[in-house]
Amino acid sequence: MNSAPLQTSEPEADASTSDDAALIRRLRCFDTLTGLPNRLLFNEQLALVLRIARRNGTAAAVMLADIDDFRRIKNSFGHRQSDVFIKAVAARINACLRAGDVLAGGVSANGSLSVARISGNEFAIVLSSLAEPHDAQRVAQRLRESVSTAVSIGGNEVFPTLSIGVALFPGDGDNADELIQNADIALGQAKANGKDRSQFYNAAMNKLAADRLALECRLRHAVEEREFFAVFQPRVDCRNGQLCGTEALVRWRHPQRGIIAPAGFIEAAEQSRLIVPIGEFMLETACAQNLRWQHLGLPPVPVSVNVSAAQVSRADFVSTVARALERSGMQAQWLELEITESLLVNDAAGAQRTFSAVKELGVRIAIDDFGTGFSSLSYLRDFPFDVLKIDRSFINGLPAERRTSALACAIIYLSHRLELEVVAEGVETEAQSAFLEANGCHLMQGYYFSKPVAPDVLEQFWRDSMRRQVAHAPWSTPQEPASLNS
Ligand code: C2E
Ligand code: MG
Ligand code: MG
Repeated sequence: MNSAPLQTSEPEADASTSDDAALIRRLRCFDTLTGLPNRLLFNEQLALVLRIARRNGTAAAVMLADIDDFRRIKNSFGHRQSDVFIKAVAARINACLRAGDVLAGGVSANGSLSVARISGNEFAIVLSSLAEPHDAQRVAQRLRESVSTAVSIGGNEVFPTLSIGVALFPGDGDNADELIQNADIALGQAKANGKDRSQFYNAAMNKLAADRLALECRLRHAVEEREFFAVFQPRVDCRNGQLCGTEALVRWRHPQRGIIAPAGFIEAAEQSRLIVPIGEFMLETACAQNLRWQHLGLPPVPVSVNVSAAQVSRADFVSTVARALERSGMQAQWLELEITESLLVNDAAGAQRTFSAVKELGVRIAIDDFGTGFSSLSYLRDFPFDVLKIDRSFINGLPAERRTSALACAIIYLSHRLELEVVAEGVETEAQSAFLEANGCHLMQGYYFSKPVAPDVLEQFWRDSMRRQVAHAPWSTPQEPASLNS
């Protein structure tokens, strides 16, 4: 499948002089799996397109198209089948771009295009002589549609989707490197916005991308320097005012900026996969701390730890959990993992297998932030949850907002029927606590009881509450301390 319609700087005559030369050129310039041009040839073609566009004063576009969730497909089906998949998608992309109607009307009559496979699951496309930027949008749309029907691999049907980043010449860069870099930034944004979409580059992204890169570098350093620590928030049973669990929450002690909450770094940690070592540290720290409390004579309660998709999708996730338990010596029944629905969406079947294995260890599973995601009832049916945590956004409006109250009550009812423990998150006022209790939700977390605090501070409040044994007594911890022990 030689699909390069453009003349490159290498004269065709060279290739035809001998079979060997043709073979060498083919090996050097074309991807052996798909037959498409490779990165080398693409760069030559792009340079040529830009030279012509500069001379004629016309516009061009560079697109980077990435097959979404390819890693998961590769992990599920193996190398051989994922090669079959890549070939099928490449053929569709190529056929779509060759189809006359992609060009007709959109790209001017003398316009041309070229597609290359530039890495495992990434394709680069250059469109020349664009009549207007909107044409690139149309081509991106057609490309996404053209790949979207099922590909059959290993007896399964997989529906490919593409994320596409687009940079325009001359507006987004006047040389090949800059255009590819900016298309890549736009591609990153398309992925961050939820994949299966195209995104045009804009200058603000550059600043965003530079900031993100700097944050990732700093995070990498923070992992090496062990700048993370855990704070703990109590879960209280309002029937007796006693602590019935804790949640471990990560904090970053930044040498210059002080203590940073997860909102400032978790997303970057997830995207860079640095959440894997951070998450492992949190698991080990939480288990060790919980056991320490037990050894101090406090009643055993579960400690919950938040886990991200990037951790759960790894083949070694279950063994990481088992190792944290083993190293700390804490019994599995006192560990609870909190997951969000977004973690289940991408690979529900894989997550189901993983969580069944986690349950076999004896660990409890909680669904966190319930009500904010898809709130899919089938997840509640299919996953072995022990606990459902009602998201703070539902608690905020209690008891005044009628519809919020109705939904909160419905979620509590649902949890009871499914025999799940139900916990309200983000309880801040006595009125909220009273409403929840009156409607059958007795387990609560929130600033009304305590902010997340250092282990020794939590221990003090725990002991105080055991002495008081009074329901509804708010724990007076107005501030999360600015400086905490790791
Ligand atoms: P989450 O797991 O839903 O944790 C609850 C968040 O709500 C915590 O924020 C907690 O401090 C905050 N919160 C608790 N009670 C109240 C309240 O009454 N009012 C208000 N306004 N907020 C309350 P935090 O610690 O900033 O964590 C935010 C999110 O970051 C967590 O939400 C969780 O999704 C994520 N996160 C925290 N630690 C980890 C971790 O170790 N690993 C992973 N993967 N994610 C983490
Ligand atoms: Mg949580
Ligand atoms: Mg939550």
